[in-house]
Amino acid sequence: MRQWLYQFLNKHPRLYSFLYALQHFAEEMVFSLHRASVRARLRICDPLSIPLRLPLVGTNVTTRCTLRCKDCANLIPLFPCPQHIPAEEIITDFEHLLAAVDFIKEVSLIGGEPMMHPDLCGILQYFFEQPKVGRVSIQTNGTILPSPKLLQLLRHTKAFVIVSGYGAAVSKNLERLVALLRKEGIAHFYLKDILWFDFGATAPHARTAAKNRALFRKCHNNRCRNLSFGEFHLCARAINAVQLGLTPRHEGAYVDIRRAPAKETRLALLRLLSKPDPYFCDTCEGRHIASPRVTAAIQISERK
Ligand code: SF4
Repeated sequence: MRQWLYQFLNKHPRLYSFLYALQHFAEEMVFSLHRASVRARLRICDPLSIPLRLPLVGTNVTTRCTLRCKDCANLIPLFPCPQHIPAEEIITDFEHLLAAVDFIKEVSLIGGEPMMHPDLCGILQYFFEQPKVGRVSIQTNGTILPSPKLLQLLRHTKAFVIVSGYGAAVSKNLERLVALLRKEGIAHFYLKDILWFDFGATAPHARTAAKNRALFRKCHNNRCRNLSFGEFHLCARAINAVQLGLTPRHEGAYVDIRRAPAKETRLALLRLLSKPDPYFCDTCEGRHIASPRVTAAIQISERK
């Protein structure tokens, strides 16, 4: 039934796009209400009795990519030594996170290009086996065709592939990949003819805390919670900006997932999620209704 539904939806991309956006919007609305209630309940009851179900958590499985995009939202072309994150590191970090939360609706494997990761099958298998994870999505740029082993795994009911279509000149295997996913009945979503947002330069703006909070509130990326490099941040771009040294690392604006036992981590996550201090938005213009749009995936030359 589920595969039939995905096959039907993939034949009607506009309907699928609408339903997908609607589902995420609804989940995030529920989560926003939850955040407001957490703020109130943190003052009056045992924090460990407050439920903690996260709608979406991304993780950077690699900073290597087959493309080098000028306006990459995740700043990947700026990494001087791109590398795959070892599967053991990703799994250990999620063991800590899953011990501290009740459920994660969707874990999103991002990069770079996740299909380049040599242990992608092992990483997927791990997430499929976790009862606290509802769905596992892979965001791919359509340049790599999955191996037969990966294709087999992607038939899993928790698997979901999001294909970003940047046109045949950039996404070399786009049409073949989409046809293959369709043929195999693999749940996928093809983002066709997309435009990107211009996040602006990464230089500090020296905004006030109130202005950064206002930017964070209206930025669509404020839902891109991400656990990578042992740290849980509220934005995938911010986590990479911190890694690259473009944004300072502030206590209280992220959770060090490796440092504390599960109960303390849970409390730290509740505090972070209910009352964020988005100082990291200072090196960004955000992604919101008034942001300028740019052509997606304009390629820049290799670093010399
Ligand atoms: S404005 Fe803040 S939340 Fe939005 S992308 Fe930039 S750093 Fe992330």
